[in-house]
Amino acid sequence: MTTSEQLFQRAKEVIPGGVNSPVRAFRAVGGNPLFIKAAQGPYLIDEDNNQYIELINSWGPMILGHANEMIQKAVSDAVQHSFSFGAPTRREVEMAELIISMVSSIEKVRMVNSGTEATMSAIRVARGFTGREKMIKFEGCYHGHGDSFLIAAGSGAVTMGVPDSPGVTKGVANDTLTAPFNDLYSVETLVEANKGQIAAIILEPVVGNMGLVLPEPGFLEGLRELCDKEGILLIFDEVMTGFRLSASGFQGITSVQPDLTTLGKIIGGGMPVGAYGGRKEIMDFVSPAGPVYQAGTLSGNPIAMAAGKAMLTYLNENPEVYTELDRIGAKLENGLRAGNQKAGKNFTINRIGSMYTLFFNEQPVTDFASAKASDLSMFGAYFQAMLKRGVYLAPSQFESLFISTALTDDLVDQIIAAHEVSLLEVL
Ligand code: PLP
Repeated sequence: MTTSEQLFQRAKEVIPGGVNSPVRAFRAVGGNPLFIKAAQGPYLIDEDNNQYIELINSWGPMILGHANEMIQKAVSDAVQHSFSFGAPTRREVEMAELIISMVSSIEKVRMVNSGTEATMSAIRVARGFTGREKMIKFEGCYHGHGDSFLIAAGSGAVTMGVPDSPGVTKGVANDTLTAPFNDLYSVETLVEANKGQIAAIILEPVVGNMGLVLPEPGFLEGLRELCDKEGILLIFDEVMTGFRLSASGFQGITSVQPDLTTLGKIIGGGMPVGAYGGRKEIMDFVSPAGPVYQAGTLSGNPIAMAAGKAMLTYLNENPEVYTELDRIGAKLENGLRAGNQKAGKNFTINRIGSMYTLFFNEQPVTDFASAKASDLSMFGAYFQAMLKRGVYLAPSQFESLFISTALTDDLVDQIIAAHEVSLLEVL
């Protein structure tokens, strides 16, 4: 038995399903999850000392690769002064100023501890601000595990077969309306049928959680127009895309601007951080400036702020990072496509910058229904075939992969070579 297998046996006795977040359990792909003891640059090292080139990067945050020295130094400097004060700090002010300078739609921002907290809080503020109770989300988008969002949810929820989780009350579910992504007409119909009752439309402007799905031309513009006409707040959930697709997130590369934005992952440099922000008049509804309550013992934690500030400062000062990530991303995409062709398959690859998904589906993937039409058992076999060759992919078809700056051209060549043989093995 490997050390990972032994640890998983022990874990299952004391942790539900043996993991602290469902997709880590490898349920969708079979086999035993690997227990990781260290990571360096582009590599994960498991408890049995196997080394893997990885394309998860902690589900997004590690855009500069693992154990980045600059972030390590910021954290080790910060820990010299204790771990938490529960009182305001200079670093929180600097962090807020930095975020506002990078993301132009954000005029005020509140720090929280996770992406889930960010989206839950943003929805509460939208309800408080508009005095309305319902919201619209899109099938297959994942916004964390807050009750309101576990309706037609993507990511781990759909991977585990519970897009509509038990435990969410009917009342909450009734206030969450869902539409297919990229289907403006469906949204217009929902808004018309619930006139004056919708507080917010929330979406991942580029979806990572049904696998990578891009907005079609006009979709975001149409949502913005509809929101303006109907007094609805538009919320971009940029927990994945924030600071990843540009230093200003996806909103830095589209003309459509949201009223509120939720952030997470990269913003903490690998520490548990989230944030939500937007127009001043909306954010001033948040306590103690306004009546909408939201708080956190560890919010704005000094160690997390030190890591996040180091990360964002670097990305802000080095925009060439994004050009380089796109170059590496394009090289990988082209290699995977060539591998598909050699295998006689026209599998869809959706990519933007350093995010991509290879769908085991020869049709275009533009929404949840087309993502779900992928061959999931073939994906599972491919995942295992790649792992056997030292490439660690996300253990679910319904995820985006994330490239870090630590991924070199040589490693991309290795991934492409592994892809070619793995594909032939599983077809
Ligand atoms: N929103 C999006 C778009 C996400 O991808 C995620 C997590 O993957 C979340 C929200 C929830 O973030 P967290 O897992 O930090 O609670």
